[in-house]
Amino acid sequence: MAFLPSASRLPIAKHCAFAWSPHAPRWPKRPQRDDAEVGIAVHAEAEAAANGEASTPLARELAESLEGLTDRLPEQPYAYDVKTGRARRLVKAGHRSYVQASDDELTGTADLVYTSRDGRRVVRDYKSGDDGRWLDPKTNMQLRFLALAVARSEGLDEIDVEITGLTSMSGADSTPPATFDVFHLAEIAAEVADIYKASTSAETVPRSGQHCRWCPIREVCPETAKALAKIAMTPGPAFPMAVASASEISGAEHAAFIKRARAVYEDALDAASRAADDWIRDNGPIPWGEGVWYGLVEKSRETIALTPEATEFLQREAPAALTVEVSTSKSAIAKAIGRRESLHVLDHLRELGAVKTSKWVQNDKFRKSDDAAE
Ligand code: SF4
Repeated sequence: MAFLPSASRLPIAKHCAFAWSPHAPRWPKRPQRDDAEVGIAVHAEAEAAANGEASTPLARELAESLEGLTDRLPEQPYAYDVKTGRARRLVKAGHRSYVQASDDELTGTADLVYTSRDGRRVVRDYKSGDDGRWLDPKTNMQLRFLALAVARSEGLDEIDVEITGLTSMSGADSTPPATFDVFHLAEIAAEVADIYKASTSAETVPRSGQHCRWCPIREVCPETAKALAKIAMTPGPAFPMAVASASEISGAEHAAFIKRARAVYEDALDAASRAADDWIRDNGPIPWGEGVWYGLVEKSRETIALTPEATEFLQREAPAALTVEVSTSKSAIAKAIGRRESLHVLDHLRELGAVKTSKWVQNDKFRKSDDAAE
């Protein structure tokens, strides 16, 4: 059975999906953190406010701000099928439970979906604490996924998203809403498909970075173990760093050594990695071994938006094998009608303005022979 990241883990899985992949080590058990308990309590207040059952000052303030917002769906779970591009609302079955989802469905719960006073459909994410109001709703992978799931489940070409920070001290404060149009939704669908592929592939390898500090398997990840092995070889008091449970810690000095070493090495590794990125930017690619290089690579992605004209054209040109009801991609078109024929179809879609090319540059591995990123 596939083990897939839920919406709240997508920001990590986008950088590294190894923790969900078939060769990942077993996830260590963790006690619930205090801030997670605060988060659950604040979300419960927000749900009560949306249901007209506010009993605390914060929930009452929130309930007032929700007046006039219609078709509200608080704490609504969704499942998005990566293979068909369809999404559905799940019946609520306990807190953040997704037992009804199938193997190809990624899941997540929208804190609140509503229709605004000017008729826009909006997905809202609540963040407890002051940080929420500074986050960008457009780049937040959790919210991007939920926007896609809600839009696809309701047959929308466009949807708004916002983040509302909730604190008992300063109340509720929302970011300005951001809009995802039909192109953005196609881009998000492609991102989610990439994450699904990485989460289910035995080829996926760990990709370490700043995101590791939020990873559910950081103590047992092979990349972390490699880094710890190097640390253990450095001079100084020798305490084992590769421990996975409290019973393996010999005493206060050992625990203090681990905590100090973590802070020192994390900072040092972050700084060293940033310096290496600067060096690569100024001096060019570096050898990675076995004919592979690492350096700045230009990437591009073409997304196909199913405008009415594009849908009509594809339904006319492509055989029934190509499902264009909710989504399609370059590879789906090539698979349905053959690569050569698909080039003409794509040219025509470009003329219809249904293909958007996004370009960006990022560090990645590549082979010099074809200059293609791995
Ligand atoms: S610790 Fe880092 S490299 Fe290892 S699986 Fe987690 S995110 Fe990936």
